[in-house]
Amino acid sequence: MAQQTLDISRRSATTTPSPSQCHTPEVAKLIDVSKCIGCKACQVACMEWNDTRDNIGTNHGVYDNPTDLTENSWTVMRYAEVETERGLEWLIRKDGCMHCADPGCLKACPAPGAVVQYSNGIVDFHEENCIGCGYCITGCPFNIPRLSQKDSKVYKCTLCSDRVAVGLEPACVKTCPTGAIVFGTKEDMLRHAEGRVADLKSRGFAKAGIYDPQGVGGTHVLYVLQHADRPELYSALPRDPSIGPLVQLWKGAAKPVASLALAAIGVGALVHYVTKGPNEVSDEIEKEFEDEK
Ligand code: SF4
Ligand code: SF4
Repeated sequence: MAQQTLDISRRSATTTPSPSQCHTPEVAKLIDVSKCIGCKACQVACMEWNDTRDNIGTNHGVYDNPTDLTENSWTVMRYAEVETERGLEWLIRKDGCMHCADPGCLKACPAPGAVVQYSNGIVDFHEENCIGCGYCITGCPFNIPRLSQKDSKVYKCTLCSDRVAVGLEPACVKTCPTGAIVFGTKEDMLRHAEGRVADLKSRGFAKAGIYDPQGVGGTHVLYVLQHADRPELYSALPRDPSIGPLVQLWKGAAKPVASLALAAIGVGALVHYVTKGPNEVSDEIEKEFEDEK
């Protein structure tokens, strides 16, 4: 859902700077996986607030339900049983949009204003501008956006931009019974995360750390991980996500080349018109056309 009352700092396929009315500090949601009990209250609250409903799925023998993100399930809990130096561990991760500082979805999108980034860092989709091409899905290093078969628009977590715009925390934060999800300025969240990491280290998790990957400029959803040296243990959380080379090319070298090619075609057409005049249909072709009628 588009949130029109926050300042937009970037829009897809647009280079015109946005007017700035009410610059807000960067925000972040911090997910401390060590405090999560996997109750899925956040998953339910997300659907409740955004008024989405998913199909009833089937049991796959795991707690993941649904087993993947969909156009209606913008966040899902992922459960992984892994062997670590501490023995068998159950690592639970709340998956969803990471609200990258440098969003690959926005870079890849060719539709003006379909993907926007607010000045507080939240990345949002304006479905009314979406043309359903799915390029944002290719551009996302976390495999997050989902294309709806019903309306051919793409959906993902909005970080409750509508709630944040009026000073409320996201619905998942509000509902989490253990305080595993907290929300505030990115600066405050990083400070809070450092305290949590220190606590985990004092309890024997020597490799505890913060997940804020710099390959995408950092994110506005942060994780505190017990095993920050191996993020892939948490249901394939990417170790060093970055925007793919094709998307970089699309926005980098290829764009001026394509613009030059278009300009050259335009100039060529103009020169042809000036030197040769407009195209004319020969008498023979016109006669052939008349005979066929
Ligand atoms: S996680 Fe994917 S969808 Fe979310 S902001 Fe980053 S690139 Fe876009
Ligand atoms: S599908 Fe994605 S890339 Fe394509 S227009 Fe919609 S938001 Fe943009």
